[in-house]
Amino acid sequence: MKLSELHNGESAVIVKVSGHGGFRKRIMEMGFVRGRKVTSVIDAPLNDPIKYTIMGYDVLLRRSEAKLIEVLPEEEANAMLTAEDAQAPNFLACTDCDSCGLSCGAKRNKTTQRNIINIAFVGNPNSGKTSLFNALSGGHEHVGNYSGVTVDVKTGHFNYKGYHFNITDLPGTYSLSAYSPEELFVRRNLLESMPDVIVNVVVASNLERNLYLTTELIDLSQRVVVALNMYDELEATGAKLDYQNLGSMIGIPMVPTVAKTGKGLDKLLDTIIDMFEGDNKSARHVHINYGTILEPEISKLADILHKTEDFPQQFPARYWAIKMMEGDKEVATLLKSSKSYEKLEKQATISSEEVKKQLDIDAETAISDAKYGFISGALHETYTEGNVDANKKTRRLDKLIVNKWLGFPLFILVMWLMFSVTFWLGAYPQEWIAMGFDALGSYLNGIMPDGAWRSMIVDGIIGGVGAVAEFLPNIILLYMFISLMEDSGYMSRAAFLMDKMMHGMGLHGKSFIPMVMGFGCNVPAIMATRSIESKSSRLITILVVPFMSCSARLPVYLLLAGAFFPNYAATIMICLYLLGIIVAVLTAKLLRLTAFKQDETPFVMELPPYRWPTLRATLKHIWEKCYQYIKKIGTVILLASVIIWVLSYYPHTEISETELAQTETISETEATEIQYENSYLGMIGKFIAPVMSPMGFDWKISVAVLSSIPAKEIVVSTLGVLYGSEDDDLGEALQKSGDLNIASALALMVFMLLFFPCIATIGAVASETKKVKWAAFSVFYNTAVAWIVAYITYLIASLF
Ligand code: GDP
Ligand code: MG
Repeated sequence: MKLSELHNGESAVIVKVSGHGGFRKRIMEMGFVRGRKVTSVIDAPLNDPIKYTIMGYDVLLRRSEAKLIEVLPEEEANAMLTAEDAQAPNFLACTDCDSCGLSCGAKRNKTTQRNIINIAFVGNPNSGKTSLFNALSGGHEHVGNYSGVTVDVKTGHFNYKGYHFNITDLPGTYSLSAYSPEELFVRRNLLESMPDVIVNVVVASNLERNLYLTTELIDLSQRVVVALNMYDELEATGAKLDYQNLGSMIGIPMVPTVAKTGKGLDKLLDTIIDMFEGDNKSARHVHINYGTILEPEISKLADILHKTEDFPQQFPARYWAIKMMEGDKEVATLLKSSKSYEKLEKQATISSEEVKKQLDIDAETAISDAKYGFISGALHETYTEGNVDANKKTRRLDKLIVNKWLGFPLFILVMWLMFSVTFWLGAYPQEWIAMGFDALGSYLNGIMPDGAWRSMIVDGIIGGVGAVAEFLPNIILLYMFISLMEDSGYMSRAAFLMDKMMHGMGLHGKSFIPMVMGFGCNVPAIMATRSIESKSSRLITILVVPFMSCSARLPVYLLLAGAFFPNYAATIMICLYLLGIIVAVLTAKLLRLTAFKQDETPFVMELPPYRWPTLRATLKHIWEKCYQYIKKIGTVILLASVIIWVLSYYPHTEISETELAQTETISETEATEIQYENSYLGMIGKFIAPVMSPMGFDWKISVAVLSSIPAKEIVVSTLGVLYGSEDDDLGEALQKSGDLNIASALALMVFMLLFFPCIATIGAVASETKKVKWAAFSVFYNTAVAWIVAYITYLIASLF
């Protein structure tokens, strides 16, 4: 618990002091040291500061400061301390002993509470944070060779050498300014969760740019360990890095790692433990020197803050001062409650102007220049460049892959390959699964007595679930392609190729990645838009992602294209995917011309080096998707199948088999028809049929369309329930029924493509835009577009 949660008269024992080095030093000077007893004396609810007694003295602490001190109830702490007294003595959880020089009794016993280490991974996109996270926690988070894959905080844990590690994987960032939502997100996360040790994941083969973020962490004055990841790549170039020396120079220990193979992870963890225990030799607090013009101004601002000491104590005054100079808006709001804010703001303006006058560049640029200067100085002494050009392969490949003439044909070829393999190769196992379900259905049909139960199990569950389950192999193949494209680095090239086109529609190449991810599933794709810095570009991307044909729509195409266009199935599917893209482009253009006239921030599109995808990563991705699909089949689709069956079975028109045999006028299929038509499902279908009939849909197809709202695959299971027969597969049965012809089948595919994907996607739109308005817009707009385009498709196709 936090010291601030202590009630009046209660005592507790201090376990840990968080916050920046200077804060810890000051607080320890006041006697707030681990293992010491503290009593809350006055604690009125809104009383600030709070009065505590420690070592017989009364001390005042602000509530915000007390929040940074972790305590345990006395009995609990005592029990632990005595239990562990027997163990070897250990060190205080403080890294600043060298610089602070306090004889605070650094050597003391540990409590179990201390054995918990909270670490956070911070690093540039694509630096291998998630790979590290997975390697350490045995997690299965998504790893991809382009930026913007991790968009949420992922947490995991594991034990090592008697310590319990809680690890957090944060989104990739280049810095910690308020430039992009991700940067803000990471900074807020660090500010709020206060990890014990920050692990800065750095690409060893690209130090210059990666260490920029490290300089931001230096300013934060936190306990940091640098993981020099992809050290294998650095070594492959023949480069030499004296990382120990570099680490001592910047005051942060560095450990070479290869997250892909797990090399160096033990050393990394040992270093983290050392750091946590305050036992690391290279760790010390370093000030980056911002030069003779900036430094005095930074000091002026920091001094103002120090006068009132009422800034957030997680980070030092110097950090807040630097950010104020940079004109960081978020920091300005964070500091607004400070008594000295007015003065601070005034001084920040004066200081920035002063810097501009003297250096002829704005303060923000001056600060980042100084940071790069610091890095290049440190690297100058420790780094010797290799003679092997590591990027030669990448550059040579890029000459081909993003070539002006070859790029696009190659891109289309890759896409075509993806869809045709998904269709052709997938057809074999698909058939086996279908046969399995058919056999099961016939078997149960034979042994179960006629009636509602048999109908529910055979027609409802096996018919509905089986119809969807057979597409599992296709989904696996599609994801295999997406995964290979991501991990090899081709996905970023595709985005790069599309960049120009995306600019044409008022977006960026970066928007293309969420759009391609949308082919898998729209929900993570919408979340992946967080890597887009510009607000309006991001919003537009969110709104157009649902037009990207997700894998849930694939079974619908596979069924219909397979049945009605057996010879052109792959081509039809490519056309559908293209149509989705075209509608997305037009929508983006429309939004750019109307709602969002202006784009705010330009940004860089990165091209990561090509890498061989590992078998493990690919299999892992495929398994994840497979598992999700199976889970969906077992839950949503199963439930929907039963609901559709109930709606189609009741009210029940009883035509017994003997009756059937007697009346020669009604065949069995006609009897089923009559049953469906009179059922609730029939009523619903007929109710909406007038709206759907222009596209060539009768009431049965209308019902199928309606049933797609929870998830698109349900269309197939609904058709499975409605048209399933023992003799033919679903495609043939559909064709024989005559309810769909070539034109209306096309229209149905188009409608399914453009209609809003599912409830979950709409939820994602609402939560990512933080406005219900956009979710509602998405529903109405997509439905309207789906209707219009499907209608036009039907009209044109009917001509042939
Ligand atoms: P994140 O964006 O920081 O989470 O990075 P990821 O964990 O998604 O990894 C990005 C890419 O780098 C993936 O293709 C990984 O397979 C690859 N990768 C990660 N660590 C290493 C490493 O140590 N060496 C090499 N050669 N590749 C790595
Ligand atoms: Mg990641």
